[in-house]
Amino acid sequence: MGRLAAVVVDVDGTLVDSERDGHRVAFNAAFEEAGLGDRWDIPTYGKLLHIAGGAKRLAFWFEKAGVPAGDARRLAERLHARKTEIMRDLIEAGKVQARPGVHRLLDELDAAGVPMHVATTGTRAWVEPLLDRVFGPRFQTVVTGTEVPELKPSPAVYLEVLRRTGCPADRTVAVEDSQNGVRAAVAAGLCCVAAQNDYTQDDDLSGAALVAGGFEDPALVAWFRRRIPPPQG
Ligand SMILES: [Mg+2]
Repeated sequence: MGRLAAVVVDVDGTLVDSERDGHRVAFNAAFEEAGLGDRWDIPTYGKLLHIAGGAKRLAFWFEKAGVPAGDARRLAERLHARKTEIMRDLIEAGKVQARPGVHRLLDELDAAGVPMHVATTGTRAWVEPLLDRVFGPRFQTVVTGTEVPELKPSPAVYLEVLRRTGCPADRTVAVEDSQNGVRAAVAAGLCCVAAQNDYTQDDDLSGAALVAGGFEDPALVAWFRRRIPPPQG
């Protein structure tokens, strides 16, 4: 890839450590409110993350516990709706913050005039308040799981960003944290940089052009600096 034309970022686990400190906490609160004894500790939740999509994750959990498939799906959908509300409350309370180094990278991209977009399978109901609160109006195009229900590793959400923005796929880089995310970006024809977190240390990220330990990893900082266009004028 030559100079960057655009950057498309994932939200969950990439921009924010939302899984461990946001979603997991919100799922547990929803269980408790519903009078259920289920609780997801940090390692248990880490294993469940291989199932993309909160409602699917819940349905899988209940089915595994012996709940018939139809009942499990209905219960999962009801709990998931409440969990989304709780997640919004956590975001509004400032409990979900940018991962270290994210603001610095976004500032550099912004200064260089590189357009930034979002491709997430999260629902708009919590993604939008999170982006507003933590990042402000940085992102031009935000495509969420509300508009594109096909979950990663399907490339659908990335393809929709490309369709809406007209960005050239061969000069657009995706930033992801997980195996499903990297696969989605690569299947859409994008170059992908992976910024791992604690939950994705063991993921197979071999499709990524670079696998970094996070946004403060010097390899990631250097990778972007080499490709950011020089200031204009
Ligand atoms: Mg992610």
